Order: sequence, then structure tokens, then C-alpha cells
Amino acid sequence: MFGLGKSSSAAHKAPLTGDLGDEKLRFEVIVNAIEDGVILVDSQQVIQLINPGASTICGWPAQDANGISVLSVMKLANDKGEPLADNENPFVQIFKQQEAVKAGNVTLINKDNQQVCISLTISPLLDENKQVTAAVAVFRDVSEERAEEKKRGDFISTASHEMRTPVAAIEGYLALALNEKVSTIDARARDYLEKAHSSTQHLGQLFQDLLTSSKAEDGRLTSHPKAVELGDFLEKLSSDLRFSAEKKGLFTDFKVGSSNTIDASKPKGGERNIRPLYYVYVDPDRLREVITNLFDNAVKYTPEGKITLGITGDKNVVQCYVKDTGPGIPAADVPHLFQKFYRVDSSATRTIGGTGLGLFICKKIVEQYNGRIWVESEVDKGSSFYINLPRISTERAQELQASSKN
Ligand code: ADP
Repeated sequence: MFGLGKSSSAAHKAPLTGDLGDEKLRFEVIVNAIEDGVILVDSQQVIQLINPGASTICGWPAQDANGISVLSVMKLANDKGEPLADNENPFVQIFKQQEAVKAGNVTLINKDNQQVCISLTISPLLDENKQVTAAVAVFRDVSEERAEEKKRGDFISTASHEMRTPVAAIEGYLALALNEKVSTIDARARDYLEKAHSSTQHLGQLFQDLLTSSKAEDGRLTSHPKAVELGDFLEKLSSDLRFSAEKKGLFTDFKVGSSNTIDASKPKGGERNIRPLYYVYVDPDRLREVITNLFDNAVKYTPEGKITLGITGDKNVVQCYVKDTGPGIPAADVPHLFQKFYRVDSSATRTIGGTGLGLFICKKIVEQYNGRIWVESEVDKGSSFYINLPRISTERAQELQASSKN
């Protein structure tokens, strides 16, 4: 077990080929040779060990940083450069939970007050009573990677934004050419133009999805969260969505709770279903996009049967789902399904148009609200897409609603 003794700056100068019998010395040679930043803090959040990698990233010489609070050496901020509150700071959180904290994209304010983008993992060291007695932070400067990603994202969003306009114009002119009141065309030309029209619509959708996904990736998707009662919200949404399913001859259903089906359109003899209020704090427009995407996919990929939209939950979580009786998704594809451009390559889905961006966008949006999205599926039986969102109490929802009116 590693002790919490202070690092000796002489340690990393020890020759690697020499006698490294002393375990502590050997440990320090290894830690000091690691290019990533490594910091060991005790239960008072005081730095007990800082390697040269960490010193370079933070701009603090080891002899100055050792023995002082990690919160002074590693000042963490959000993407606007505002200091993280205690309940968001992983160095505070690690002592309240027994699990490692991972943050892929945190801003560190270094000693020269410059912002450095880091990827950080903090692992707790537990004693025999499972109490966190110390923690090890490992971090890396990812500023260059992030800047490259940003450049790529900017290019994609500018290109897709610019290309949407001419595509919309082509689509408009093709629609005019296909309009019998405006144009006279023979049957063969109509067939060609219809094909051109549907390909142009696909291209327009692809640019729109590219734009949305690049915004979602670098956090530029606008979000105006408010307290939303998801049961009511989904019920209304399901009555809008069901037409596209019914047009294809599919049955639809809206369920609240695990078993009781509520058919909102047919109240039985004045009977009222008392159901829990499932409040969440999200942007309703963004959530509508997610549910609509899942529902549209269900309609698109299900040749016959039923689509069920539902909601359930417990004290902390609200869960909504979209289930279908379609072809299902092979187990090998499931782990990749929410990746950008991923499409299942099966005879059933190959013929159906799509961009492979919808589920990627859904995941980004759900994660923006600290939620989780996943799929459970069985080939030839159907797929169920689930979304879990943090539940807020009715009192909190009312407070939020009242404050948004002021
Ligand atoms: P798109 O539908 O535009 O291809 P998505 O990201 O929405 O892109 O979906 C990715 C892939 O997941 C689809 O191409 C399809 O292969 C598969 N998929 C999504 N939803 C379903 C579903 N309900 N049933 C079967 N396969 C699905």
C-alpha cells in the first residue's frame, strides 16, 4: 500500500538501472516518469504528492504545491470559466462517494490564470471500513485535441449551414415542377423528378442533422430548460405522433406506469385516472425532438404491429420509452447504435433511408439533462428505447414555474 509521505524531489532523479529495492522510491520513479499529471491528496484535500506532469499542467512547482489544498492548486471551472461549486467539484465529490469520478472536459485555471482544458479521473483510496481516506487524480492537457475538434465542428456546421440554402431552393423548384397546377410534365419525367425530390429531401435532412449534431457535440445547442410534467407532455405528443403510425397501418398505445394503459381519448363514465406527476427539468422542444426521433424510427423500421409510448418512474427517476414490434436490432450492433453515422446493415433496414445521426443527437440531448438513453432489443421481436431523466419534486417544479413567471 502506498503511504501518504511527501514526495522527495530527488526521487525521480534516481537512476532507473540502480537498486530500486525501496518500494517507495520505485513508486516515485514510476509516478514521476508518467507524462500525465498525477496528484495524491489526503482526506483533508491536502496534496501529498504531485508529479512533474501535474506541476507543468498546473504551473505550480512541486515544492510549492506539496502540503497545500488541491482546491488552490487545481482551480476547476466550467466552460464559461466560472469556478465549480463544491457540489460540482470532483475533488469535493470524491470524499462523499466511494466511486471514481471521471470528467472528460474540465477547465483548469493554472497558476498564471490561463485556462487549460483537461481530462480528469479521480480514484478514491478506501480503508477497511470503505471510508475514503485519500484520492489519486490523473489528468491530461487536452486543449489541443479540443481546439482541433472545435475547428472540425465549426467547418461542419458552416458547410452544412451554407449548403442547406441551395438544397432548399432545389427542393422548392422540384416541388413546383411536380405540382400539376404549375407545370405540365409527362409520366416519365414525373418519375425522375419524384426520385430527385426525395433524394433532395434526404440531403436537406442530412445537412440539418449534421448541423444539429455538430452543435450538440460542442454544447452549442440552445437549451431553455423548465419544469415539465412528462406524463402530460408525452400524452399530448403521442396524440400528434400517432397519425404517422396509423397511416402505415400500425397500432399505437400510450401507457402510464408499468401496466395500466390509459386511453386518454376515451374517459370511462367520468372516471378519472389519478396518476403521479412526473416532473423533469428539461427544454420541452429538445425533448420533443428526441421522442419524435425515436417514434419516427419505430414507425420507419416496423412493417406491422404496434408502437407503444410510455412513462413510468420512481422517487428519483422518470423513465419514458418507445417500444415497437419491428425487426429488432442484432446484439452486435447495439453497443454502436448511438454513435455518429451508425446504421444497422441488414436487408430490412438497408432499403430504408436515414442519416445515422438521429440516435447520436438523441443521446447528446438526453445527456445534456443528466439523463441516460439505451435500447433493449430482440431480433424479430422488436426494440424498446428507454430514457431515464432525473425526477424533480412537485414542490421544486412549482417553485421553478413560479420563478420563471417573475
Ligand atoms: P437513421 O434512422 O437516420 O438511420 P438513427 O441514428 O436514428 O439513424 O438510427 C441508427 C440506426 O439504428 C438505424 O439506421 C437503424 O438501423 C437502427 N434503428 C433505430 N431505431 C430502430 C428501430 N426502432 N428498429 C430497428 N432498428 C432501428
